[in-house]
Amino acid sequence: CTRFHDDKHLQEETHPFRSPPCPFTPFHCQAYNTLSRTNSIKTLPIDIQNHCLKYSHVCRYGRQCHETSDVHLNNTIHVARHMCPYDSKCTKKHNEDHLNSFSHSDIPDIRRLCLYQNYECRDKRKSEHILQYRHNGNYDSSGVINYFGQNRMIDFVSNQEHMLKAIQDYAIHLKQTLSIPKEIQKFIKGLQPVHRCSKIIFESILVHGHVMSCEHMEHLKKPRFAAQAAQEHKHVRAILDRYKLPKIEDHVRVYIQELISQKYSTKYGSNSAFVIDSSSSMTSPTPNDFDETICKEERFLKSMLKAEEIDRIRKRAIDIAEASWNLQGDPTGIKYAPDKVLGTNKHIFSILGAHFGHYYGDIFLVFKNEVMLHPDANFSPQAATAFNSGRTFSCRPWVKDPGSDEAKIKCFHQSKLHCSIPGYEYVAAAELIAMTGLHKKTMDINIKDILNRWKKVDSHQVFEAHLPQLIPLDYIDAVYIPKNLFNSLTSAAQESAKKTFGHSLHLTDLEVNLGLNGDVNVQLLDKSRSKYQNYVIDKLIEKIEHPTHFYGTVITLAPSKFSDHILVPITINKAYDQYRHTHKGNTSSDDTYIYWKAMYGDMMITLSNEPINPDKIEPNIRYLVCYVAERPSTTTTNYNESYSYINASDPYRHEIIMANGRCSSSSRTFYRGCNIEGFLTYCLKIEKKTGQVTLSHAGSN
Ligand SMILES: [Zn+2]
Ligand SMILES: [Zn+2]
Ligand SMILES: [Zn+2]
Ligand SMILES: [Zn+2]
Ligand SMILES: [Zn+2]
Ligand SMILES: [Zn+2]
Repeated sequence: CTRFHDDKHLQEETHPFRSPPCPFTPFHCQAYNTLSRTNSIKTLPIDIQNHCLKYSHVCRYGRQCHETSDVHLNNTIHVARHMCPYDSKCTKKHNEDHLNSFSHSDIPDIRRLCLYQNYECRDKRKSEHILQYRHNGNYDSSGVINYFGQNRMIDFVSNQEHMLKAIQDYAIHLKQTLSIPKEIQKFIKGLQPVHRCSKIIFESILVHGHVMSCEHMEHLKKPRFAAQAAQEHKHVRAILDRYKLPKIEDHVRVYIQELISQKYSTKYGSNSAFVIDSSSSMTSPTPNDFDETICKEERFLKSMLKAEEIDRIRKRAIDIAEASWNLQGDPTGIKYAPDKVLGTNKHIFSILGAHFGHYYGDIFLVFKNEVMLHPDANFSPQAATAFNSGRTFSCRPWVKDPGSDEAKIKCFHQSKLHCSIPGYEYVAAAELIAMTGLHKKTMDINIKDILNRWKKVDSHQVFEAHLPQLIPLDYIDAVYIPKNLFNSLTSAAQESAKKTFGHSLHLTDLEVNLGLNGDVNVQLLDKSRSKYQNYVIDKLIEKIEHPTHFYGTVITLAPSKFSDHILVPITINKAYDQYRHTHKGNTSSDDTYIYWKAMYGDMMITLSNEPINPDKIEPNIRYLVCYVAERPSTTTTNYNESYSYINASDPYRHEIIMANGRCSSSSRTFYRGCNIEGFLTYCLKIEKKTGQVTLSHAGSN
């Protein structure tokens, strides 16, 4: 029987087990986990023995249990799970998800809990170990990439359709057939965004703890923004999170603000470009003006934090002030005016794939693929500036030059693709094929031809990725830097880079010629630089052949108490249309399934029939809200879960529903019996015909 956590069912039916089920069985009862690890029950502490007699637990062997003693039958729930159809010939026995979903002969349904977390278990790649033990701690601790709604106005699905249509027409014009080899699509899926930067920017990135857009760097001229950056820094956050007190947070904010403002005014005097914030008064303050508040705040903090914590906050604030104004003097930081018109200054620039833009510097930062799946990321077949200058219309004659500047910019926005939209790799491959075959007027192109062209042309003529504004360093997969350039960094930067990137930091033996400023001359691609560049690019191309795949949209959120919405790059309608186009003739059902994975729960999905505008009250929008509760604690003695619910009303009623549970449908037993460690998979099913909406677990639970 699988309904052992359903109280009503237990009262109505009789079951072979006598004692009431433990609320934490099967996965999270600590007593039972201890019991199943031991060989001799008699040696266990008496309270564990008592617990296991008082409550029933799910038997680890399920249908394959041979134990017939009365104690076992009275206290154990037997669940007959599906056998794996391949059983002993199964090839997925190394996959924990699979072992959690299907039974195999001689493997318990519920394997013992390994004493080590997934990331610290040394045996987790050994199949004998996996067959015996399950693991907790499958989580991801990457930082947050904030969402700014930068793709709000972009319709990626229609972009894809138009771009593909243009190339198909062009192929007809050339009297060629457009066929897109799987190999090229696979190549595109393996591309990672690559960013290049100078030494000054790299040092600044290390201090800030994230890579940043030009606009963000520009903002750092103002002490207010530098202060915000300092407060959001990982190390400062770690201190604040330890206390979780709003009072401390307030004092730390003022303290950092004043420290940084003082630094700025010492550095720049009354130079208004740097010091005056729009919020402050007209007379610019002198450095001494800040002393009083700094002292006062320090006194407050001393009563609440440890002295070394205050020191760490002060040091981080001062470092960030310095790193921020260092940025302003960097020549590669000066960006073309068109970036502002195109909106690309709000993104981090990178090339999706091998990056030959030597004019950005010789430090290569390779981002993880999942950055491209963030709702604020996108890429275009050529650089934004190529649209603005009109050059792209001669390299890509299938797109007509629309004439006016405004129309060119519009064309750029309509050429943006997003990696979470199904079929993007097909359109991107079509673009690459057409661009590569341009001179020979052919569509008969293979991967070799594509790479050859890619290596020859300027980096503005290949995929340009526009990444979210601020990306924490956890999302960097690899860093390449010439050894002598690395050795010329400040010792603090060297140490910080080693600590932050660990094995992902690659110092190459190839050295580059350094100029007077201690960095390479970015304008001049001399022999040493070109040799180094080729070396790195070969490494990058090697990596493309071993890609890691993700699907859908990926985002790590900072809690907002449900005040902000994140817009997913594809709508249900668009997804449905697209599905019908690609699966002609077999769409009998119009049910919608939304699948997602989340850690720890406490998240909400809002569907609406119109875009939600946070600044307006829109009485006519219809909503469907689905909220999954925070996963219940497994360390308490009583099981306690808050409401998960589905509601057909606006999302801002959340607090009220959490208090009384009154809404279309709610449950406080949604996680009962689930394995709630790591990522959980959920499914929301919407049946249009009946209006029925169902929330369920969709993972191996
Ligand atoms: Zn039953
Ligand atoms: Zn128990
Ligand atoms: Zn049993
Ligand atoms: Zn199997
Ligand atoms: Zn283990
Ligand atoms: Zn920053």
